Order: sequence, then C-alpha cells, then structure tokens
Amino acid sequence: MAIASINPADGKTIKTFEPLSETQISQKLQLAAETFRSYRLSTFEERASMMVRAAEILETEKLDFGRLMTLEMGKPIKGAVGEAEKCALVCRYYADNANSHLADRLVETNASKSYVRFQPLGPVLAVMPWNFPFWQVFRFAAPALMAGNVGLLKHASNVPQCALAIEDIFRRAGFPAGAFQTLLVGSEAVQRILEDARVVAATLTGSEPAGRSVASIAGKQIKKTVLELGGSDPFIVMPSAHLQEAVSTAVKARTINNGQSCIAAKRFIVAAEIYDEFERTFVAEMKALRVGDPLSESTDIGPLATEQILKDVAEQVKTSVAAGALVLTGGKRMDRPGNFYEPTVLVNIPPDSPASCEEVFGPVAMLFRVKDIDEAIALANATSFGLGAAAWTNDISEQQRFVDELEAGSVFINGMVASDPRLPFGGLKNSGYGRELSEFGIREFVNIKTVWIK
Ligand code: NAP
Repeated sequence: MAIASINPADGKTIKTFEPLSETQISQKLQLAAETFRSYRLSTFEERASMMVRAAEILETEKLDFGRLMTLEMGKPIKGAVGEAEKCALVCRYYADNANSHLADRLVETNASKSYVRFQPLGPVLAVMPWNFPFWQVFRFAAPALMAGNVGLLKHASNVPQCALAIEDIFRRAGFPAGAFQTLLVGSEAVQRILEDARVVAATLTGSEPAGRSVASIAGKQIKKTVLELGGSDPFIVMPSAHLQEAVSTAVKARTINNGQSCIAAKRFIVAAEIYDEFERTFVAEMKALRVGDPLSESTDIGPLATEQILKDVAEQVKTSVAAGALVLTGGKRMDRPGNFYEPTVLVNIPPDSPASCEEVFGPVAMLFRVKDIDEAIALANATSFGLGAAAWTNDISEQQRFVDELEAGSVFINGMVASDPRLPFGGLKNSGYGRELSEFGIREFVNIKTVWIK
C-alpha cells in the first residue's frame, strides 16, 4: 500500500510520501541504538519533565491534532479532539507513576540483600493501526520512554501525517532525536527491521494476520512481543438491567469511532424476556444517528477509514445475509462520495456466518436472543477472540458469574468497555497477549533483573 493521506470523506488524496530507503532505515536504527546508550541513563525526573511537556503540547494543540486525525481517517471531530486529550492523560499518568512502578522491589531471602530491578531493553518497534492514530501510539510510547527505552514507530500507511506529528511532539517536548522516531515504511519493511539486531522487541496493534506475521518473525529472532489484536466483544443485557441506559450505551459502544474500535461491542446478547423491547429501541436509536461530515460537531458517524474497509464490511454483511441473516436497518454503502456505510442491525445470524465469527470493523450490530444466563455466557465465549466484554445486570450473583466466566481481557458491568491509563488493557485467545497501560504495561519492555548479594 502506498503511504498516503487520503480523505475518507471525499476520497481525495491530500498528500503522498516516499517510503524510506534501506539506507535511511538503517541510519534511523543506528540513531536509536546510539541514543539508547545515553538515554537509558537519564533519571525518571528528567524523562517526566519531557513527558509532561508532551502532554502540554497535546493539550494546547488538541484542535489541530484532532483535525489532522479526522482528515486522515474520518473519525468525528469530537472524538478526535478527545483522543488528543486522552494522550495527554497517559503522558501525565506515566510521568507521575513510572518511578514507583519501576522502583526496586526488596525480597527477603537467605541473601544479605536481594531485590528485583527493572531496566530498559533498548529500541522497541511499534507497528500501529490507523483507528486511534494518536492514542495507540501514545499508550505504547509514554510507558516505553518513561522506562528508558527508545521507540521506533511504523504507523499504518494511511496516517503518515499523524505519524510525523507525533514524532514532532516528542522532539518539541525535549526528547533526544533518537528517542522516538517515525519510520515511513510499508508493512513489507517490518520483517527486515525486526530482524535487525539493533531492534530488541516489538509491539503490534492491528489485525490477526499482521499479529501472526510479526510474532513469528520475532519468535525466530527470540525477541519479546506484545500483541493487541482484534475483538468481537459481547454486550450482554439481562432482565434486571436498566434497559434504556443499556440500549443507549450499546449504540454508542457499537458506533464509537465509526464502528472501528477493537473494543467496540459487536455482538449484543439479550435475554428473551426483554429482547423485543431492546431490539425495538436499539434499531430506533441506530436509525436516528447522524451520518455525515466528520468535521462537523454534530456528526455521530463519519466515513470508514479506507475504501477497502468499506468493501470488507459490505462483503461480510452480504455473505451473512446470503447465509440467512436479516437486515433490520441499513445494510449498504451510502449513495454519496466517501466511504460511508449505513448504520446496520442484523438479526437471525447463522453461527458460521462472518457476522457471527469474524470481527466486523464498521457500524454493524449483531443481535442475539438467549433464554438465560447460561446461554448468554456460552454464546459470549463462542468466539476465537477474547478482548473485552460488557454485561448489564443488577443481580449481584449474575454479575459475579460474568466476572468469573467471561473469557476476556476485561469485563465491564453496567458500562461499556473502555481503556484507562490506570487499568491494564489487553486480550486473550486470538485477541493477542501481553498488556498495555497501568503498572503491567510499563513492565512489558523491561529486563526484570534479580539481584542477590551475600
Ligand atoms: P492491520 O491491517 O493489521 O494494520 C496494522 C498495522 O500493521 C499497520 O501499521 C500495517 O501496516 C501493519 N501490517 C499489516 N500487515 C502486516 C504484516 N503482515 N506484517 C507487518 N505489519 C503489518 O490492521 P488495521 O486495519 O490497521 O487495524 C484494524 C485492526 O486492529 C482491527 O483488527 C482491530 O481490532 C485491531 N486493533 C486492536 C486493538 C487492541 O488494542 N487490541 C486496538 C486497535 C485496533 P500498513 O498500514 O502499511 O499495511
């Protein structure tokens, strides 16, 4: 894929970029390796003051950064500006907490003194997706840089201007030039970069095939990886739930970021007792969403990020309908320029159809009726993914069963799945492994060194 900013709202090319040559890539890897040698010796206080400066830049220029995200990948501007603010939050969180998360841990043994020390590893490659073009990068970079690592970003090929803007933020915040670099390269360059001895580890957020590829290359090199992949999150509603609140949250959880979120609720599993009422209000709220110009403050849903994503979503819906699924609303591309797809609700979904077993990355909701909590949990877990799960119930024993039995990296009761710098984030099964955010995220790319002194 060429490296290009193409406005998904009208299909017009804004800017194209030449991928880096082999020599340019090598120069950047060399700079990263050399910078690491001195940067790893900087103090937490020094790193924190630069990280806070990065947060201030994000806060001051959030409107510009938000506009850039919207122009490159089509998310509604309200969410884009909020994303820049959230990036500032993660910078401040790690500026405040990296020191305590990575402080030496004393352990009583038969030694005079024994303890655990956390030390940075070196240059870490981050292969990142376009859907949250700032947030995904900052939630990797803030802990990695605060731990004393240096970052190399291979961003998705459709958001090069976001990638360059992020590099510029770290530069202006005072980090040395080699502490965080953007590599404008296509995915075919990832193997060579990852095989280079100067790169010590990798994190990938993206699709399952990309994750499999990066993990197998890294595996051969015996390099650590963290994988944050796709999801088909269940959103379960039981009879004791506050129904109107559950419906409104369900619509938001499915359509946030134009439906292109790994933790978007995708399968709505509703108890038979309340199903008809849920379906009626859910469809009405999906129909009421305002689809249009993502730069307008009043837009709920903008275009899908690329023409290919729109084609993939349309194909998944078409194949599911051919297999027997019914469309209650939407179900096709909108008749206007840009990658707009109608907010869609499917029911009667056969178990083997794409809508049931694949991740649908657009504003398409799948509704399922179940007779009781056992069937709800069984259906929720009947997926190869295991990222997040939401369950709505005011019955305490049901809440406990969902917490215990849902196979997912997170369970949210009476809410929608979301990321928070203070809480770990990650998945099970084909949704990946490892964790980002919180104290767990910052310990992914460190040497956990045992020290024993007699
Ligand atoms: P993608 O096609 O996998 O791309 C993600 C990144 O991987 C891009 O930088 C891409 O580069 C690169 N890439 C693609 N194929 C590769 C390969 N074979 N080897 C090395 N790198 C490769 O995913 P996407 O369409 O951008 O993002 C959507 C996916 O990300 C969804 O599945 C979503 O659920 C997942 N996601 C997961 C999380 C999470 O935290 N679990 C968060 C957000 C998104 P190019 O752009 O150059 O192809």
